[in-house]
Amino acid sequence: MYRTHTCGALRIENCGEQVTLAGWIQTIRKFGSITFVDLRDRYGITQLLFGETLNKQLEETPLGREFVLQVNGTVTERSNKNKNIPTGDIEITLTSFTILNKSETPPFTIQDDTDGGDDLRMKYRYLDLRRNAIKKNIELRYAVNRSARNYLHENGFIDIETPYLIKSTPEGARDFIVPSRMNEGEFYALPQSPQTFKQLLMVSGYDKYFQIVKCFRDEDLRADRQPEFTQIDCEMSFVEQEDILTMFENLVKRIFKDVKSIDYTAPIERMTWEEAMWQYGIDKPDTRFGMQLCNLKFPQHSFPTKENISAIIKSDFAVFNDAETVIAIAVPNASDYTRKQTDELTEWVKRPQIGMKGLVFIKCNTDGTYKSSIDKFFTPVQLKNIATTCHANSGDLILILAGAEEKTRKAIAELRLEMGKKLGLRKDNEFKLLWIIDFPLFEYAEEENRWVARHHPFTSPKPSDIETMINNSPIIENAADYLKHPYANIKANAYDLVLNGNEIGGGSIRIYQKELQQKMFEALGMNQVEQQHKFGFLLGAFEYGAPPHGGIAFGFDRLCAILGGSESIRDFIAFPKNNSGRDVMIDAPSTVDEKQLNELQLMLNTKQ
Ligand code: ASP
Repeated sequence: MYRTHTCGALRIENCGEQVTLAGWIQTIRKFGSITFVDLRDRYGITQLLFGETLNKQLEETPLGREFVLQVNGTVTERSNKNKNIPTGDIEITLTSFTILNKSETPPFTIQDDTDGGDDLRMKYRYLDLRRNAIKKNIELRYAVNRSARNYLHENGFIDIETPYLIKSTPEGARDFIVPSRMNEGEFYALPQSPQTFKQLLMVSGYDKYFQIVKCFRDEDLRADRQPEFTQIDCEMSFVEQEDILTMFENLVKRIFKDVKSIDYTAPIERMTWEEAMWQYGIDKPDTRFGMQLCNLKFPQHSFPTKENISAIIKSDFAVFNDAETVIAIAVPNASDYTRKQTDELTEWVKRPQIGMKGLVFIKCNTDGTYKSSIDKFFTPVQLKNIATTCHANSGDLILILAGAEEKTRKAIAELRLEMGKKLGLRKDNEFKLLWIIDFPLFEYAEEENRWVARHHPFTSPKPSDIETMINNSPIIENAADYLKHPYANIKANAYDLVLNGNEIGGGSIRIYQKELQQKMFEALGMNQVEQQHKFGFLLGAFEYGAPPHGGIAFGFDRLCAILGGSESIRDFIAFPKNNSGRDVMIDAPSTVDEKQLNELQLMLNTKQ
């Protein structure tokens, strides 16, 4: 038997017991004629005491960090107790030891605060995974997985696997493709998600499906994206939006309970996409704090019915006058920001990622006066009016951005999050869920002058918008006026679940009638031939009794990262890829040999 106990098991009550442990050497501390070793395994760390006799043996068989050691000995009470670890009251007074395997000196320390940089840790990920900090993330991931499985199983869902080698079908991102040896000149694609398969399972009558499944998207990797990632993918038949929202907010609440012991009893707020965009500038707002946006000047094309309040900012200030939009936030209790601090914020909004030309601020001083960076252009009464419009209180700092609508809204949304962070309003241990509903069905793709599906082509329009979709041609006559096209106002039966400013899940009620699905494909610019070529199987299935259905998919990696209080999904994936999509440990992707290429009938067009 290799071990009687793990390195995390023994306590003061075990004193006097003869035990055998096995694990890795974390540290070695020599004190004259005795040596202490910390032995580590998945379960914890136990201190070993090498007395005089064994200590002598160490001269012939020296130990090293990360050696795999098996030891026999007696559990003894420690004189110098360590309150920081559960086994800290005891140590093992050894009677014998065996080195099961030696180790090279590891390239970085296997400790919570390691000295290894990201690249090194990725190259030696199998060592990084030994670190407690990563191990607890991997364990948390398993806990989330188990909790989700239990909940879904208890609610009648069954786990059905769907294929990874599928057909290349446009679903938004770029496909990874895989050449087929047996079918010369033909390719499979890896699924961006099991979307069409789960819908086909509904046609087959499996009315509650789930899968914790890998998805593959060949996208340029923005920060913290992975080319392969995991979804908790679900679909149900005979449901309306309300059924889905209830079923899956309870799933997330259950995960909170099981994994974090949090009773999330508060009702989950629902916000329309339009409200989110106007109040927060983003479709996944972090509502743990307020600081809502205030529009001081509306773009001409939006909300014609809304009163345009630009009158209050009438002045000679060209920055506001020339801008399409002027948007403000009132930052609570920040009117005492120094010149240096406001300068830093200005630099922050000018960074290329944000891309604004400058930042205007108004300090609402506690003595009732106003001090702003635009004092030259605005009277104190005007400043006061702006402050009132922004619902700013005395002591607040108003920050204002002006420019093109989309860019400015995005930028102020980022600035709001940044200020939330600075003010400590985005706490890791506070969780706020939010449904965003009523998304637009379409988005306008400027480069192609056509509509694209905002979610995916299988999402249904709101029943009240079906007529508009059927009775109007998708053609956009004048690109500049695309917002006037009836399609711009069609709403989708789609919903996203947002947690602390992150989209953790998204889904929709699907189209299940062949004609409407064809109309949708047509709206996206696909002719009959293309429709048959790409989605003939789905249109065919819809001829054989497709039930009304809908579903959702959760970003499993992201959900784990948020629950673990981290911003990086990589720390929650055992073997992640780096920012260039490489696995630097196994060195993939890599070239293949000539023979493999020949078998696949492939020739590389490598540039000389
Ligand atoms: N397949 C969708 C996605 O990956 C989710 C869904 O609509 O259920 O975003």
